[in-house]
Amino acid sequence: NAPVVTIDGPSGSGKGTLCQMLALKLGWHLLDSGALYRLTGMAADRHGVSLEDEAAVAALASALDVEFLPGEQGQPSRVILEGDDVSGELRTETTGNLASRVAVLPAVRQALLQRQRDFACAPGLIADGRDMGTVVFPEAPVKVYLTASAEERAQRRYKQLKEKGNDVNLATLLEEIQLRDRRDSEREHAPLKPADDAIVVDSSGLDIDQVFARVLDEVSA
Ligand code: C5P
Repeated sequence: NAPVVTIDGPSGSGKGTLCQMLALKLGWHLLDSGALYRLTGMAADRHGVSLEDEAAVAALASALDVEFLPGEQGQPSRVILEGDDVSGELRTETTGNLASRVAVLPAVRQALLQRQRDFACAPGLIADGRDMGTVVFPEAPVKVYLTASAEERAQRRYKQLKEKGNDVNLATLLEEIQLRDRRDSEREHAPLKPADDAIVVDSSGLDIDQVFARVLDEVSA
């Protein structure tokens, strides 16, 4: 029974970066649960399976042929789906949308449950997601819910996309974030909300190092 720290929250809260920093600092495993939903969406797309066909999508989710390769010598980590390197495609908006559509299907969530739990091995696990503390690891001794205002998250996303040379509109980004927040928090199965015993950290106005220090305090306590 390896220790698990769950980090949940909406996209753009800084979860991803925080989880990578924690896993590196502690030398623990990292579960990027969003990637599993993204990969399921990509698998459905590849195999021409309709997202309306819940049983077929769930079957793909249980049988996902995926490998997570750690980055060697400062290289970023890689994700291999059915033998192909999909690291780039995994992070696109298109894939994010597929992910949020398969994520509303209860049979898919069920199919991914055991696969996520299998990541918990010694010396410990940092679990990044939306329902890590509420559904997947309800017994985790440390649960964090990381949030930030929609405006702040839109700003961060805007900066990221600008830096990559994309032509983006802040108001549109804010609308998309608010829409996805509603979809994530109002869905019937595993809606996005803090676990009762989670520590809620609002990262608005904090930089990532401040958030890291705050959460590391909780983990070490
Ligand atoms: O975190 P990421 O942006 O990769 O997640 C993609 C989508 O997968 C989210 O918008 C959410 O709908 C879904 N998801 C989920 N439960 C998780 C992780 C992600 O429903 N634990």
